[in-house]
Amino acid sequence: MTPPFHFECPYCNRPTTIQQNDYEEELIKPAPTGKDTGTILYVLATVVCPSPDCRKTTVAMSQWRAARNRSGGWEIDPETKASQRSWRLMPRSRARQYPEYVPVPVREDYEEAHLILKDSPKASATLARRALQGIMRDFYGAKPGTLYDEITEVAATGKMDAGLVKATHAVRDVGNIGAHMSKDISVIVPVEPGEAEALLGLIELLLDETYVARHSREQRVNAVLQVAADKQALRAAGGSKAPPGGGAQGSGTPGAKP
Ligand SMILES: [Zn+2]
Repeated sequence: MTPPFHFECPYCNRPTTIQQNDYEEELIKPAPTGKDTGTILYVLATVVCPSPDCRKTTVAMSQWRAARNRSGGWEIDPETKASQRSWRLMPRSRARQYPEYVPVPVREDYEEAHLILKDSPKASATLARRALQGIMRDFYGAKPGTLYDEITEVAATGKMDAGLVKATHAVRDVGNIGAHMSKDISVIVPVEPGEAEALLGLIELLLDETYVARHSREQRVNAVLQVAADKQALRAAGGSKAPPGGGAQGSGTPGAKP
């Protein structure tokens, strides 16, 4: 790939544009010709996220059909539109890194579901359903039942935002996922292409809108409380000697003449 190109950083999830300085690729060519691969080469690519507060490294390898170029060397076959296969080497999966206030079992199931997404969508979807159930029980306080029952119960209580209910139902109604939500969570069931990904997308949406949103609101509330407490302390310490002009409010008093 030749910079500049669009790239979504797997660490900070920001869409970025990669420039030459943050990209390097190495062609490994040609690999020995296997009966199963034909003449191929590999591209080892390294990208560093351009966001100043991230700057983390992503490494990936891809396999391409190789062809002789004019000078007798090897290049990616110009008639090839896409790689034959690719592997993300670092980070190992597309899983987002959620903070420690998201319960460990939910994070573990979510991260492992991502890790095996390509190799075993069935097992991935099973772990993802377990993560979904973890959120229903831990965050929304659902009574243990089948996943289907727990989602229905949570939706009925009104504890879950209407948009999230809609998204959860939409994913549940896709392919096999819905049918299997009424079964035991630990049963590994077949999934259709894209189902495991849809389930992981739903879990990310839910984690953002539950634990992450709650934490960010708590922080803002605490910041406001801190300001109020500081003012209170200042007032108590200063007694009747309030600073001229109304203290922290300072200038900008309504009606003040320049
Ligand atoms: Zn980044």
